[in-house]
Amino acid sequence: MTARDDLPAQQQYDALKARHLKLNMQRGQPSDADFDLSNGLLDVLRRGDYMAGNLDTRNYPGGVHGLPEARELFGQYLDVPAAQVIVWNNASLELQGFVLTAALLHGLRGSPQPWVRLSGKPKMIVTVPGYDRHFLLLETLGYDLVTVEMQDDGPDLDAVERLAQDELVKGILFVPTYSNPSGETISEDKARRLSQLKAAAPDFTIFADDAYRVHHLFEQNRDVPVNLIKLCAEAGHPDRAIVFASTSKITFGGAGLGFFASSEANVAYLAKLLGVQSIGPNKIEQLRHVRFLSQYPGGLGGLMKDHAKLLAPKFQAVYDALAAGLGAAGEYATWKTPKGGYFVSVDTVLPVADRVIALAEAAGVSLTPAGATYPGGVDPHNTNIRLSPSRPPVEEVREAMQAVAVCIKLASEEYRTAHG
Ligand code: PMP
Repeated sequence: MTARDDLPAQQQYDALKARHLKLNMQRGQPSDADFDLSNGLLDVLRRGDYMAGNLDTRNYPGGVHGLPEARELFGQYLDVPAAQVIVWNNASLELQGFVLTAALLHGLRGSPQPWVRLSGKPKMIVTVPGYDRHFLLLETLGYDLVTVEMQDDGPDLDAVERLAQDELVKGILFVPTYSNPSGETISEDKARRLSQLKAAAPDFTIFADDAYRVHHLFEQNRDVPVNLIKLCAEAGHPDRAIVFASTSKITFGGAGLGFFASSEANVAYLAKLLGVQSIGPNKIEQLRHVRFLSQYPGGLGGLMKDHAKLLAPKFQAVYDALAAGLGAAGEYATWKTPKGGYFVSVDTVLPVADRVIALAEAAGVSLTPAGATYPGGVDPHNTNIRLSPSRPPVEEVREAMQAVAVCIKLASEEYRTAHG
């Protein structure tokens, strides 16, 4: 069944409800099949196998920076030398929280004062639509959020340059590659502009959450991730960029490794602060990841190709169902077709996103809550819907998306009836 069936949208929706679906398209998580690719992690270390070179991972070897082999591996991932990387525990969000808190309490290197001592609340630029956990993290820590639009080639840099003239604006937090939710990758040009930006705050910082840097859907048709750390060094702002990532969508969602990179001086500064709150991260997990990823056929790149084989058909199922149900893009909705990442962002033509999500919920299809892609949970246009096709099997994605198309059609028709 599709929404293009000749039945009126209301009848299609009633038929949908009668099916008592129970589908979930809101969890941006890997599928069990994705996790299965990494089951080798569970037994890659045998009893007695705990030495990383001459470091005994059972103890506290090597302090807070992480195992040399892990720094090397994730340095390659981020395209920086190992000396510029800290490999930590499982969550990159925790690392983002750590650095954003350190900036408030101590300032970053080059800060005239801790950010809590500014004449007003520190402000952070975020891109919209964006990632709800970034907003929540910043809001909870007491930052004021200022939004700029995410464009096809990255953040609206004209707006960023304008906003950065306010010295309370301390930086930008965004996803540089295959952004959450709309899949854009910042262009080299824009990344260079960001690295050269003349900001009023001397410690203006680029917090780049590169969660999807290697998450390409296709072999050939790929976006090219930028190297913000290198560009900032070239621009004479070596401490400006801090890039975060993790293996949450490479190996195991809750049991991977988080890491970040910046200038060596920043790494030294932040390592000192990390060392106050921990003697060091879990090195056994790091050893496990290094062993597993180096043994995987094709290494980390090979694993990502295997993920892509699972993911790409799910993205295609989303596009097919939307096109079949809604006709050409632009009639009821527009949608992105990213070359990587984890999400498909749909915008309804009319301001009905909240109604679509409520209709879908009532029909047993759970979607990301309305407004989640904007700070404070309020989408000023009421049009954006984030779809997460990664977790359910492809048949469920297809079924859920057919239902979503019906809901978009019904909500749009209701709106047209109500507003003439
Ligand atoms: N950053 C982005 C942009 C994400 O989409 C996600 C997961 N949805 C995360 C971070 C979470 O990463 P981690 O598990 O490393 O904290």
